[in-house]
Amino acid sequence: MGSNDGHEPHPLRVFFIPFFATGHMIPMVDIARLFAARGVDATVLVTPSNAALISATIDGAAASGLPIHTLLYPFPSAEVGLPPGAENIASVPLADAPKIDAATLLTVGDHERLLRLHHPDAIVSDTHFYWTTSIARDLGIPRIGFHAIGLFPDCVLSSLIRHLPHLSVTDDVHPFIVPGLPHPVQMVRPELPDFLRSENTAIAQAMSALTEAEKGSLGVVVNSFAEMESAYADYYYKVDNMRTWFVGPVALADGGEKASRGTAADGKAMANRERCLRWLEKQRDRSVVYACFGSWCYFSEAQLRELALGLEAAGHPFLWVVREDGEEKEWMPEGFEERLGEKGLVVRGWAPQVAVLGHDAVGGFVTHCGWNSVLEGVSSGLPMVTWPLSTEQFINEKLVVEVLGTAVRAWEGFRSTEEGEKEVVKAGDVAAAVEKMMGGGEEAEKRRVIARELGEKAKAAVMVGGSSYQGLSRLIGEIRDWPQKINGCDAASG
Ligand code: UDP
Repeated sequence: MGSNDGHEPHPLRVFFIPFFATGHMIPMVDIARLFAARGVDATVLVTPSNAALISATIDGAAASGLPIHTLLYPFPSAEVGLPPGAENIASVPLADAPKIDAATLLTVGDHERLLRLHHPDAIVSDTHFYWTTSIARDLGIPRIGFHAIGLFPDCVLSSLIRHLPHLSVTDDVHPFIVPGLPHPVQMVRPELPDFLRSENTAIAQAMSALTEAEKGSLGVVVNSFAEMESAYADYYYKVDNMRTWFVGPVALADGGEKASRGTAADGKAMANRERCLRWLEKQRDRSVVYACFGSWCYFSEAQLRELALGLEAAGHPFLWVVREDGEEKEWMPEGFEERLGEKGLVVRGWAPQVAVLGHDAVGGFVTHCGWNSVLEGVSSGLPMVTWPLSTEQFINEKLVVEVLGTAVRAWEGFRSTEEGEKEVVKAGDVAAAVEKMMGGGEEAEKRRVIARELGEKAKAAVMVGGSSYQGLSRLIGEIRDWPQKINGCDAASG
């Protein structure tokens, strides 16, 4: 396979295996689409219900002539005790998230079977599926890892795991330095992802299995861009000996299937899209606050109420996406919707986030700091209010607030990744943070300028000849050259 004896090289075939979380699936499918746009035959391995979430993007890309497909394998619902169709972190109650992790471990056999059967030229695998490293080795093909986060959080996590600086503090209020990074990064213990806070070392051990597997990879493909994170690519290479290819922001390359990006392409998604865009059309440029907290996080009723009052009190038009976990919640403040009228729009469920952020009416983004959201906010050139909730989101917050200077925190005071520890953020804090982001004044203006410039750099990165465009060219080139490399041939000959 892969010989180039003067003829056109055969189209490369690359398999992509995304994890069962929307925030992993969306960018991995965008990456597959980018490969397909360069003539690579891209196949996304996915389970049936997850296929429905990406079908709009895949079908749209395939209809426009790109060589992109899905290949299905079963989700082990019965084995882990999940109802049929519940195949994604976003579609199960939070308490059932460990069942998704358990299901992950049961997919080894199907991955092995399909990869051996189809024998692609390379695998781009979510880091959760660490066994794809040894399958790739057996098949003699390269495996490229995908972490669904940027290099800043990756490097902070790597330093935390290596140096365990949080063990040197005795309480939850004293900050510690995360050592050795290109920028000074301080944290307090409650901001750490749960696997580093837990006494139970099983998760930490699983993490090191993932890290070990990553070492057997060609490197890591990153949804980010050099102009924002190149110092961390250098660090990652020097300290973790890991090569990286920036190919993002991948959402910018999404080709118009934005209405149902990451959700089922049904009437509700289309109706929400129409509603959002129609409402935005009526607003002044840069006047709207967009608030959204990702694909799987939920707020308590008390928090939703304060958030509603805070957005209202800030006095700017707002578009707010509220996720409800199936139960009817009594969070709406008295008379809220009547008072709101045309001043605000509350979307229940799913909004076309990339399309909303790209609309001229939007002037700021209140975000939970999931990596995709952070990057989509950066790409849109918008200042942000940060409201991290869990996982590595407090680390992502540090990038935009402290390193880049494009965001302000939603509140000061006690903050935690742990659901049971969270304190309700008051409406007054929400309104003050939104005002800081949207208001006049030198600081707000400076933030807007930095955000706008960074947005321009993000857009330039994915244009033909831009840094991420070239990153993808280099990665595809390495995959193409792989057979010569492992056969010991001189790839440069001829
Ligand atoms: N998203 C969206 N509409 C919504 C909520 C989320 O399009 O109403 C998309 C968002 O654009 C992003 C992804 O879902 O691409 C969420 O990923 P992120 O990393 O921000 O957060 P997670 O859901 O993983 O916490």
